[in-house]
Amino acid sequence: MLLEEIKNLSLRYAQENVASRRHLHSNPELSYQEYNTAKFVATKLKDFGLTPVEGVAGTGVVVLIEGKNPNKKTVALRADMDALPIQEANSVSYKSQNPGVMHACGHDVHTASLLGTAKILAEVKNKFDGSVKLIFQPGEEKNPGGASLMIKEGVLDKPKPGAIIGQHVMPLVPAGKVGFREGMYMASSDEIYLTVIGKGGHGAAPELAIDPVVIASHIIIGLQQVISRNASPKQPTVLTFGKISAEGATNIIPNEVRIAGTFRALNEQWRKEGLEKIEKMAKGIAESMGAKCEIEISHGYPYLENNPELTRRIRRAAEEYLGKENVVDLELTLGSEDFAYYSHQIPASFYRLGTRNESKGITSYVHTPTFDIDESALNIGPGLRAWMAIKELMES
Ligand SMILES: [Zn+2]
Ligand SMILES: [Zn+2]
Repeated sequence: MLLEEIKNLSLRYAQENVASRRHLHSNPELSYQEYNTAKFVATKLKDFGLTPVEGVAGTGVVVLIEGKNPNKKTVALRADMDALPIQEANSVSYKSQNPGVMHACGHDVHTASLLGTAKILAEVKNKFDGSVKLIFQPGEEKNPGGASLMIKEGVLDKPKPGAIIGQHVMPLVPAGKVGFREGMYMASSDEIYLTVIGKGGHGAAPELAIDPVVIASHIIIGLQQVISRNASPKQPTVLTFGKISAEGATNIIPNEVRIAGTFRALNEQWRKEGLEKIEKMAKGIAESMGAKCEIEISHGYPYLENNPELTRRIRRAAEEYLGKENVVDLELTLGSEDFAYYSHQIPASFYRLGTRNESKGITSYVHTPTFDIDESALNIGPGLRAWMAIKELMES
């Protein structure tokens, strides 16, 4: 039976997939600079007898695996390849060799897992109808998002996939389990940069200055009004300022203060309105206190909505593969993902691969210097997604 065959292949290649993951983990590259990673991916794919297209949107790699009747239908599978500007704090044999850069979001796992899926699909390609398009994309962690660039370069055309499936590690879910959510899953994310311009002076003579530190403080507090009073309480939304810098001193009022933060929403209409209100209020508060506020917005990814029918189908495939007891529900999150761009183009579903193992002390969240995974997740990740793709080709 094909399911058993795929499970066996996934286990048989697990060591190789772990080795790929460790190689990538040791050699992380920042967003849009995934040159060696892309080379590694393309070399592996060629080893599997496949013909990858390289240099898509810079460092992206795309490969089409054709089964029987290749034109019948296409399903796309996506992995992201970039690392983060974090200094790794783990002391493991595969620790990052690139100072200040770390695979702290598991994109090494995603890339290794999809390579494993490629090897399995290449091996069973005479046993399914249709084609599977594998997308290894750059720059998930940084605007404008590698997904948007890949789409611009036509990754969803020729052939156009009927569906796309994304897999992401999840340190809150134990290794051996996977999680799904139908419908709205992740938020839009926009970066907000405010510069409050006052007039510097002596700390003991505020009457001769326009203190941008006090004004910036009012702006930070005041803008929470947009979230608590203007947004509907039925719609999750968040505004966080995580960076504030003023180059004054204990006795020096600086000329300006810079504030940077993130605005998240689950509704494009509110996203637009919220950003307008933030700008208006920040400028209004600054002006009312004799200062000026300049605002710059870097628009990030839209909300991510999981197509309900597709999600139900791949969830069923996961239940077949792992047993119902190993499939869990995911909660809505205000995190964001550039996979969202695909979800605004074609039916898409983004599911999570459990990577937690408390008995081994593997509990750190993504984007932290101690993030790691229980590599037993790579026993199932590659085969599971191969099975999902084949089921999707067979069923829909
Ligand atoms: Zn991330
Ligand atoms: Zn990520």
